[in-house]
Parts: sequence; structure tokens; C-alpha cells
Amino acid sequence: MDNTKFKKQVYEALKNIKDINSDTNIVDNKTLHEVVIDDNQINLILNIKGNSPNYYNKIQELCKKYVKEINNKISINIILTSDNINKKTSSKMENNSNPVGLKNIILIASGKGGVGKSTVTNNLAISLAKRGLKVGILDADIYGPSQPRMLGINNEKPSSGKNGKINTIEKYGIRCMSIGLLIDEKRPIVWRGPMVHGALEQLIKDVNWGELDMLLVDMPPGTGDIHLTLSQKFFISGAIIVSTPQDIALIDAQKGLNMFKKVNVPIIGIIENMSFFLCPNCNERHEIFGNGGAKETANNLKETFLGEIPLYTEIRIKSDNGEPIIEKNNDQINKYFFKITDEVEKFLKENSAI
Ligand code: ADP
Repeated sequence: MDNTKFKKQVYEALKNIKDINSDTNIVDNKTLHEVVIDDNQINLILNIKGNSPNYYNKIQELCKKYVKEINNKISINIILTSDNINKKTSSKMENNSNPVGLKNIILIASGKGGVGKSTVTNNLAISLAKRGLKVGILDADIYGPSQPRMLGINNEKPSSGKNGKINTIEKYGIRCMSIGLLIDEKRPIVWRGPMVHGALEQLIKDVNWGELDMLLVDMPPGTGDIHLTLSQKFFISGAIIVSTPQDIALIDAQKGLNMFKKVNVPIIGIIENMSFFLCPNCNERHEIFGNGGAKETANNLKETFLGEIPLYTEIRIKSDNGEPIIEKNNDQINKYFFKITDEVEKFLKENSAI
């Protein structure tokens, strides 16, 4: 085999592959860093410039396809590197790597507390898991962890694994970890700023999450610098903002959106919770708060509106009993969660992240 000719053909063929978020191809913009041919193996070295390796799944597939079209006998090895990170962004990027096995970290945030962020997180997580995805929840709401109670695992104590990391608690087909499972609820901790950041980082790094398609992080309310720290320490696939229809909550939601934009975290979209009252007797919608505010905000900001969830007494009763509503076959209510699940799955698929 004439290696020089083969290498030239490979470079030419790979010019057909467009890079992520760019109009140029992976050869011209030097994402394809090097091609090394070694006996019966071709090594393609891709410089991923600090992006998540998951975003390169499709590009890797295309590289293999094009190389095979030229030579279908050679074995293809793709190596992802990110050592040429632009110096200006390197301080932001230096720790920007996720624990092995965690494909996507998704932040679920709200501008203020009580809008149903935790309720939405666990129902969405279970709904995604029912579609065959491997899903985990990290309850990062250290000031008021509610996932253990909502998932009915508040009496469980996580064990430690052989590797010294903490094991998750599994329930309803998802893996969960919460600071509420690790501390004595009767002796609350007085959290100081740096402790909070350290604790959250540890909860992501020192927990045996296993292989997960996505880890949904139930964030503390507000737009504090915890969000900033997480986006600097880890690669965040996207953020979901939960809001209620009231104006004040929407103003807070907008602050949240702007904050994520500033730190380059993609916005998956906005969910409006408690959009309207769904009467269990007459099955009618009652627009008691004035409906559609979040949808309008999303449209104005050119963000995706992921869907609405009604105010429905059974959602509260079930979640207070440790049984997320999605576990019940209540089509009247679950259809709202399914629509949101479709949108989140679509976002991840479009970004080749699952
Ligand atoms: P957050 O995480 O934003 O503080 P929670 O998820 O803890 O909010 O929800 C606050 C309360 O509202 C909980 O008692 C929860 O069961 C209830 N709740 C949330 N969403 C709904 C809904 N759509 N219908 C009825 N009750 C809800």
C-alpha cells in the first residue's frame, strides 16, 4: 500500500466532514490534527478543543465511513485530544472534564424556590429512564434537599464502594445521590461558600454513577455562583429552566437564562410548571395564574419552550409520599411530561450526545 497516496486520499475525503458549530470542515480548521498510518492501522488524531467527547460521536462515525470507502480492510483508531486549547480560555477549561461514564450533565434550575423544580426533575428523569436511557439525579439543592423524600428513599443510607466512592441509591429505574442522604437531617450543616462548591464537585466526582446517558442536577434555587463553578469544573450539556407563569418567577427565570448564556452553557429550554389548574372532577383547564407567560418569554428570547405542566393536586400528594406521579398510569397528566421528555431527548440526539 502506498501510504503517502492513502494519507492524501484520507485528508481529501475527510474534508467532507463539517466541524461542530462551524462552517469549515475538520481538515481545514485543523480539528483533524494528524493522520498516522502504522502497518494495518490508521490513527486519526482529532483535536476536540475542550468540547465534550460526546459531541464528536457523529464525526468519529463519519471519519470511519470515509476511510472505509477508501480502504475497507484497514483498522481505524480515533484518538481525541484537547491539548491545543486556546490559552485565553484554558483557565476556564482546565478542569472541564466529566467523570468517565457520565455522558451528559444537565442542570435543572429555577430563579426562585417552590416552582416545582425538584418535582419536574424526578418525573422527567423517570420518564427518560422508561425510554431505556440510563439516568441519574444529583440533588444539589444542599439548602433543602427534597429528592430523598420525593423518591421515598429518605431512610436509605448510601454504602461505600470498593473504590472508596459512594454508591448511589436506585429507585424507579434511576440512580440518585443527595446531600440529604449523607448528612443528619436533625443536625443541619451551616454551609459556607467554598464548602458548598467543594461538596458539589465531590458529589459529581466521588460517587459511583456507573455508565449514565445523563445526570440531571437538581440545582439550588437562584442564580448564584454555584452554577458558575459547575460550568467551569465540568462540561455541561445544557440547562433547563423551570418557571411558574407569574411574572416575578419569569423575571427570575430570565436572570437564570442570562447567567447560563454568559458561561456558554446551552439552554435546552424552559418548562412552565403549574401553568393552569387541571380540575380532577370536571377535567377542565382553569387559567388561574394567567397562562402562557413562559411560552411567551421563551419565544421572545428565542429559546425552546419545552412544555407546560398543570397544577394538579395528585402531583403534590404523590410526590410528598415518595411516589412521583409519572409512576402512575395517569394519562391525563403524564402526557404533559411525555411531551417534555420528547423535547429533551430530541435536544440530546440532535447534539449527538446520546
Ligand atoms: P422547588 O424544587 O422548585 O423548590 P418542589 O418541586 O419542591 O419545588 O415543589 C414545591 C411543592 O409544590 C411540592 O410540595 C410539590 O409537590 C408541589 N408541586 C410541584 N409541582 C406541582 C404541580 N404541578 N402540581 C401540584 N403540586 C406541585
